[in-house]
Amino acid sequence: MGVRESVQNFAINQALKYIEGNPEENIPKLMALVDKLMPEGWYAAQRGAVRNVIEEKNNWYQLILRLYELDPGVRKAFFQNFIFNASLKGSAIQDEAKKREGCNVPWAILLDPTSACNLHCTGCWAAEYGNRLNLSLETIDSIIRQGKELGVYMYIYTGGEPLVRKADLIRLCEMHPDCEFLSFTNGTLIDEDFCKEMLRVRNFVPAISLEGFEDANDSRRGQGIYKKVRHAMELLKAHGLPFGVSTCYTSRNYADITSEEFFDMMIDSGVLFAWFFHYMPVGNDAAVELLPTPEQREAVYERIRAFRSTKAIFTMDFQNDAQYVGGCIACGRNYLHITAMGDGDPCVFIHYSNCNIHDTSLLDALKSPIFMAYHDNQPFNDNMLRPCPMLENPERLRAMVKETGAVNTDYESIESVDHLCDKTTPYAEKWKPKADELWGACKGCSGCKNGAECR
Ligand code: SF4
Repeated sequence: MGVRESVQNFAINQALKYIEGNPEENIPKLMALVDKLMPEGWYAAQRGAVRNVIEEKNNWYQLILRLYELDPGVRKAFFQNFIFNASLKGSAIQDEAKKREGCNVPWAILLDPTSACNLHCTGCWAAEYGNRLNLSLETIDSIIRQGKELGVYMYIYTGGEPLVRKADLIRLCEMHPDCEFLSFTNGTLIDEDFCKEMLRVRNFVPAISLEGFEDANDSRRGQGIYKKVRHAMELLKAHGLPFGVSTCYTSRNYADITSEEFFDMMIDSGVLFAWFFHYMPVGNDAAVELLPTPEQREAVYERIRAFRSTKAIFTMDFQNDAQYVGGCIACGRNYLHITAMGDGDPCVFIHYSNCNIHDTSLLDALKSPIFMAYHDNQPFNDNMLRPCPMLENPERLRAMVKETGAVNTDYESIESVDHLCDKTTPYAEKWKPKADELWGACKGCSGCKNGAECR
């Protein structure tokens, strides 16, 4: 650790210690001190936003206070690993590596420890992968070591059901205490013992899949799963552990999961963040009828944004929030996906690859043909409500896969890029006028068009 880094680290630790005593009283005092010490104009917009949150005591302020209901050791590890290592220190190293290497360098790496799963849900991309593949502990450790050299301190497990390999995941938390690990999970394997292990290692955060209330959830995931998930949430909350929900909106459940009732249920259950994914018709047997209509997607867009200014929960609606990250984040622009077989995919939905982590380095994977094609073409559309080269701009994915010779990494049933994009082309055509209307009406906020304040 360099001198500058040690000083920053020390300052952050002191600030956190100060807030710990009495967050309600000390957060405003600390902000006033920052304002006094920081040269005028430095991070003015960000400081202004934080000051508003404190003065208005709005839903974001309530969310900050909810962090102080967590176990103190877990909270400290989260601030250290997520805020300092992954976002401050990590971003600086990533930026240097991007310039030096001329390729994308991600903020997070998603990987599948296993393709095995104890459930079989309708429309799950993981279900298409077969169920007997695993990345060894040594391979995951090697990916993390290589990632840290590039400034990556955020690792996200997908699958399969990652918790099928609980013991290895806890071991990896111990081996890399400076990283934050987040895991998508169906929640059914979270029990008292695992909560105790999470409290011990401090750097493991589950994101539990939920598709709505009991009927909607269990019709996709299986009878009795909703009750098991609610039980897992109770355990996590009782142990002061942070956790989120991951949900996929379809033509069937979009109203359920964007209802006020659903948001309130999540908050009451202790959920700190909710990640909303648009249903993707990936795989030869994908159910195209689950794709939301333009009106249904607009309803999701409107409701999540409305709740963002009233509910004490952090939400991300990946397909409708691309404006905050400048478009598609795949192929290492913000993240990449490594399958249980070791193939380096652009993202969890796009399964075309030219590289395998067993015979190439992480850096060379980032320079592989399809990764460089993404790098050279992102963003794929100026309209940030049409970010995806598969869903909203299918001609772009067809061209990149054909030009780079990337092959499909679905081990059970190979899907050609034409088959995939033929399914999304009608969707893209129908969504375009609605997306143009919404984007034209968007005033733009930080990171997008006009620099003005949005809803
Ligand atoms: S390829 Fe599509 S689904 Fe994947 S990150 Fe980019 S926009 Fe999202």
